[in-house]
Amino acid sequence: MQDWQQYEFETRAVRAGQQRSAEGEHSEALFLTSSYVFDSAAQAAARFAGTQVGNIYSRFTNPTVRTFEQRLAAMEGGEACIATASGMAAICSVCMGLLKAGDHVVASQSIFGTTLVLFSQILARFNISTSFVALDDVNAWQAAIRPETKLLFLETPSNPLTQIGDIQALAQLAHDHGCLLAVDNCFCTPALQQPLALGADLVVHSATKYLDGQGRCLGGAVVGRNELIKDVYAVLRTAGFSLSPFNAWVFLKGLETLKIRMEAHSRNALALAQWLATLADVTQVHYCGLPSHAQYERVLRQQTGFGGLLSFEVKGGQPQAWSIMDNTRLLSITANLGDAKTTLTHPATTTHGRLTPEQRAATGIGDGLIRVAVGLENIKDIQADLLRGF
Ligand SMILES: *Cc1c(COP(=O)(O)O)cnc(C)c1O
Repeated sequence: MQDWQQYEFETRAVRAGQQRSAEGEHSEALFLTSSYVFDSAAQAAARFAGTQVGNIYSRFTNPTVRTFEQRLAAMEGGEACIATASGMAAICSVCMGLLKAGDHVVASQSIFGTTLVLFSQILARFNISTSFVALDDVNAWQAAIRPETKLLFLETPSNPLTQIGDIQALAQLAHDHGCLLAVDNCFCTPALQQPLALGADLVVHSATKYLDGQGRCLGGAVVGRNELIKDVYAVLRTAGFSLSPFNAWVFLKGLETLKIRMEAHSRNALALAQWLATLADVTQVHYCGLPSHAQYERVLRQQTGFGGLLSFEVKGGQPQAWSIMDNTRLLSITANLGDAKTTLTHPATTTHGRLTPEQRAATGIGDGLIRVAVGLENIKDIQADLLRGF
């Protein structure tokens, strides 16, 4: 395999990992096959024994999936990658591959709701406990670490308030205590943030979001050092969390345009955030690209762009927030994000609806808060559509 790190990011996004078949196809081939034929019984035996490298069965070997894995690894600057059926399968594979009963996890309290359920309810049944701490408070992370802590887990920027975790400081803290740091890089993608270069041990992805970028397929991935990915792969291969080759093929096309899409999402989101901040009925705009953001200096150090996610609080609470959403004609009301189409979410009654009003208040999710995952429509049309309900 070529050393892709000698090439710039955009080049890796378009070229890394491609292996052509005997047909000489230019675009990556889609190998939609569940199994493979052996030349002889002896070859089958050698493949199973591992003395010959080659395809066996698409739960753990597929050329299209492999190309996606090699390309994403090259883009994140990691040694290895394994693709999974969803973002949750990626996070689950990390936990099953690297943790055991009795271990302890420290996680940011501002993580994807389903990840929170995985840690607090599912892993707890297997005697793996988790402490949740404030994303941006390094001292709280330190205080939560115990002798049996094995993993620190975060997302940055957080959703929907775009708080920032200090990847470098948390990597140092993790390593000082013999722990691993895993970063869910879903919102920035490697186009805007590369956690491994900042010291993280693992990056996890929901490819469902910006890596696809057009709302078509579910998928996920884990990227990191060979020695760690080997243990994660062992679980995936056995548990069957595998990515469909069709989805891998769709994501390969998504990766080719990732950089220019993330730049366009960021441009639109910054313009929208600046505009929202001028409206009298908007009491607060949360966007890590605004100089008024509490951790703006850290954002500039850690990210090369600000991303497409923002949220804003309107006067009038839930009735006014719902009115703005219901009066749009173009923008989509959905819980999803990372799409060419702009999506609107009311966190207090959907993604954060499980929390009590007190918990929501403590985490800053007001009843008048609207999350916007800013898409690639023209910014003037996004503004005009939002303005209808004000
Ligand atoms: C959506 C999401 C996930 C879960 O990904 P799926 O592909 O839906 O399983 C994990 N983390 C973050 C930050 C997400 O937004």
